[in-house]
Amino acid sequence: MNFSLPSELVDFRDSVKQFAIQHVRPSSEERDLTEHWDPAIWRKMGEFGLLGLCFPEEYGGQGADCLTTTIATEAFAEGATDGGVTLAWGAHTIIGSMPIVLCGTQSHKDRYLRKLATGEWTAGLGLTEPGSGSDAAGSMETRAVKKGDRWILNGTKMFITNGPIGDVFIVMAVTEKKKGPLGISVFIVEKNFPGFSVGKKLKKMGMRTSTTSELIFQDCEVPEENMIERMNSGFLRVGKATLEWERTVLVASAIGSMQSMLDESIRYAKNRRQFGEPIARFQAIQEKIAKVRMKLDASRLLLYKSAVMKDKGKPAPIESSIAKVHATEAVIEAAYEMGQVHGGYCFIHEYAVERAYRDCRLGTLGGGTSEVMRSIIAANL
Ligand SMILES: Cc1cc2nc3c(=O)[nH]c(=O)nc-3n(C[C@H](O)[C@H](O)[C@H](O)COP(=O)(O)OP(=O)(O)OC[C@H]3O[C@@H](n4cnc5c(N)ncnc54)[C@H](O)[C@@H]3O)c2cc1C
Repeated sequence: MNFSLPSELVDFRDSVKQFAIQHVRPSSEERDLTEHWDPAIWRKMGEFGLLGLCFPEEYGGQGADCLTTTIATEAFAEGATDGGVTLAWGAHTIIGSMPIVLCGTQSHKDRYLRKLATGEWTAGLGLTEPGSGSDAAGSMETRAVKKGDRWILNGTKMFITNGPIGDVFIVMAVTEKKKGPLGISVFIVEKNFPGFSVGKKLKKMGMRTSTTSELIFQDCEVPEENMIERMNSGFLRVGKATLEWERTVLVASAIGSMQSMLDESIRYAKNRRQFGEPIARFQAIQEKIAKVRMKLDASRLLLYKSAVMKDKGKPAPIESSIAKVHATEAVIEAAYEMGQVHGGYCFIHEYAVERAYRDCRLGTLGGGTSEVMRSIIAANL
C-alpha cells in the first residue's frame, strides 16, 4: 500500500489543472448559458495531448495508464469547472476510442487513432436507444444484417454524447437476436457512411457545454472490416473491456468537481460575514465542509483503487461499481451542501457551484444508473 502519487504524476496532474484553468474555465459560464460547443478548446486539448492520452504512443497517444487518465480527468474537471467538456473528452477518449485501442485490428488503429488523438476527428459511443437503457443488451432494437461485403444497420441510438459533432462512432447492434447479449456486435461507423444521420441536438439540464443527440441508421452501409472483434462478441468482449474504464475514468469528473466546490466554498465561508463574523466560524457551516471533505477522500480512494486494479489487469466489476455509486452520489450531496454555504448566491449562474449542481446530476444516470451499479455489486457477491 502506498498512498502517495509519484512526483511525475503530481506534476502532470498540476499541469492539466493549469491548462483547464487557463483555456477552459474562463468561458465555462458563457458556454453553459448558450449551450455552445467550442472547437477551439477541443483543438487545444488535442495539442496538449489530452485527446489521445491513453492511446499507445505509436498512434499519437501518450500511453497513459488508467490511473494517470483518471487523475488527469479529475484535474481537468477541477480546473475547468466545466462538466460538459470533461464529459465530451471522456466520451471521445474512453467510450468512443478505447474499443479501438483495446479490441481493434491493426488497420482500425492505423485509420482512426492518430486523427482521434489530435482531435481532427471526434468519437462517441452509440449503445443506448430510445427504448433500451439499463437493459441495453436485452432490449436492443438496432439490427445489423450482412449483405455482400457490407453490414446494413437499421435503428436509432439515443442520448449520444458528441453525436452532433462526432466523426466516428462505436455502434452496438444485434446480429443474432436469439442469442441475447451473446448476439450483439460492434461496428465503427463514420459520419459519411450512406444511411447515417444525426438527430437534433438535445437541450439539457446540465453538461450543456457538451453536445448530445440521437444517431439514426437507415440502411446504413458499414464495410465488413469495420466490425470490431468477431461477430456476436460485441457486448461481452468489447463492452466489458471498455466499461470498467468508463466507470473509473469518467467518474473522476465527480472528484474534480467536488474538490473545486469544496475549495471555493471554504474561500467563500471565510469571506462572507453574517452576525458580525465569517460564516466559516459557524459550526453548521464547518460540518458541511468536513462532510464534503470526508466524502471526497473516500470517493477518491475508491476510484484510485479501481484504476490501479485495471492497470494490474485485474477485473474490477465490484470496485468500479462501488466507486461509481459512491462518487456520483457524493458529488450530488456535495453540490447541495456547498450550495447551502453560498446561500442565495448558489442560485446565480455566475457562481460555479450553480453549474456544478446541474452538471453532476448526470453521474448517477449515465454509464449505468446507481440502481444498476448496486445490482451489479449484489450479483457479484
Ligand atoms: C447527457 C447524457 C449523455 C449520455 N451519453 C451517452 C452516450 O454517449 N452513449 C450512450 O450509449 N448512452 C449515453 N447516455 C445514456 C445513459 O447511459 C442512459 O440514460 C442510462 O444508461 C440509463 O438508461 P435510461 O435512461 O434508458 O433509463 P432506464 O433504464 O429506463 O431506467 C429508468 C429507471 O429504472 C431503473 N432501473 C432500470 N432497470 C433496473 C433494474 N434492473 N433494477 C433496478 N432499477 C432499474 C433505473 O435505475 C432508473 O432509475 C447518456 C445519457 C445522458 C442523459
